[in-house]
Amino acid sequence: MIERERVHWKPTLKLFIKLNVKILNVKTIRTYKYRICPSRKQEANLQLSLLESGELWNSLLEYVKEYHKTTGKFPSRYALIKLTKGKSTKLYSQTAQNTADRLYKAIKRTFVLRRRGLKAGFPRFRPPERIKSIAYPQFGFRLEDKLALSKIGRIQIRKHREINGKIKTLSIKRMPSGKWYALFAVETKVTAPTIQCPKTSVGMDLGITYFAYLSDGGIIENPRHFRKAENKLKRTHRTLSKKRKGSRNRKKAKLKVARAHEKVANSRRDFLHKSSHMLVNSYSLVAMENFETQKMSRGFLAKSILDCSWAEFARMLAYKAEEAGCEIVLVNPARTTQECSQCGSVKKKSLAERWHSCACGASMHRDLNAAMNILNRSCKSNCKRSERSSLRATAGTAGSQACEKEASTLSANGASIFNEAGNLAL
Ligand SMILES: [Zn+2]
Repeated sequence: MIERERVHWKPTLKLFIKLNVKILNVKTIRTYKYRICPSRKQEANLQLSLLESGELWNSLLEYVKEYHKTTGKFPSRYALIKLTKGKSTKLYSQTAQNTADRLYKAIKRTFVLRRRGLKAGFPRFRPPERIKSIAYPQFGFRLEDKLALSKIGRIQIRKHREINGKIKTLSIKRMPSGKWYALFAVETKVTAPTIQCPKTSVGMDLGITYFAYLSDGGIIENPRHFRKAENKLKRTHRTLSKKRKGSRNRKKAKLKVARAHEKVANSRRDFLHKSSHMLVNSYSLVAMENFETQKMSRGFLAKSILDCSWAEFARMLAYKAEEAGCEIVLVNPARTTQECSQCGSVKKKSLAERWHSCACGASMHRDLNAAMNILNRSCKSNCKRSERSSLRATAGTAGSQACEKEASTLSANGASIFNEAGNLAL
């Protein structure tokens, strides 16, 4: 995966080697995902559950809007959950309560994001096809050789790996391609292994030309999954647009679009898993920029930036690092490209300028210079407190979806804002 590039310039920097890794013994939440294969009858029942969950969402949202119109306030979480009682027939009681909980959190999230100055819309009414999953937050399911679900039955499950830990919640998810998945949020103990041989620290500059440029000269190429599949996606979308609404052929074309998108997402996830695994296992400290993807992904590079999935990559690094005994450090991203990593002088560069050459004699690739700067900033000795914060994976409502840092904001889609319970403070 990593190609070592010949670099004539040799790193003179004293690498910060972390020998004593604290043995973690923290409980954390990991999510295990399995494919499930429901029978036709079970699938119909699952579809019905999704449908009812959607209807419940819409009726609750209507209530919230009415309530806000008359009182100027939003109802509490408890009030919403109370409303779900005795409403549905096919939906498991706790699943219905979870729908109310999700709506409450969606409203809360809107205002948290807006307060941070980010764009966020209020929850919307959803058509049946926009409901993608239902949750069993505590009970109502049992996992043996098959997955037993309350009101649904015993569903075939492809258990490709053993679950390590205590199962907390279950989500059943339907992909647009028609595949069904069971996601178990599992509480596990994380014990970081003591490091056998001293490993090194590395700075990493994430980019578009290369997915990542490492401060030791290593390169992770950018696979550009979306760009590669763009023509195929265009073709399938074009075919879909020509089909008559409500027709069978339109349904078939829609499925083809969904499959094409799923393939892109799957290959991207596979790449991110492999790269993050390689990094946490080869280094004891990985320093990266503390970027905000949502703010960055607006300009003409938006598609390419989103195709890289940096936020998802950071999330994977965080939780994998915990188990591998590696530390992920976020540094201030200001002027990492402009600054010279050797003498510290600042020189403006345009986006087209790919080479860094300085009056002090430093001459290297632009991204390598940035990676060196990132590593410099991560080193404790020459780094101000405000410029350094470490990334940790923590348990959130959505299991491994959660990704919380201690002192800084990584991106708006971290689930950390969900951690505080209580009423809406609007
Ligand atoms: Zn210089």
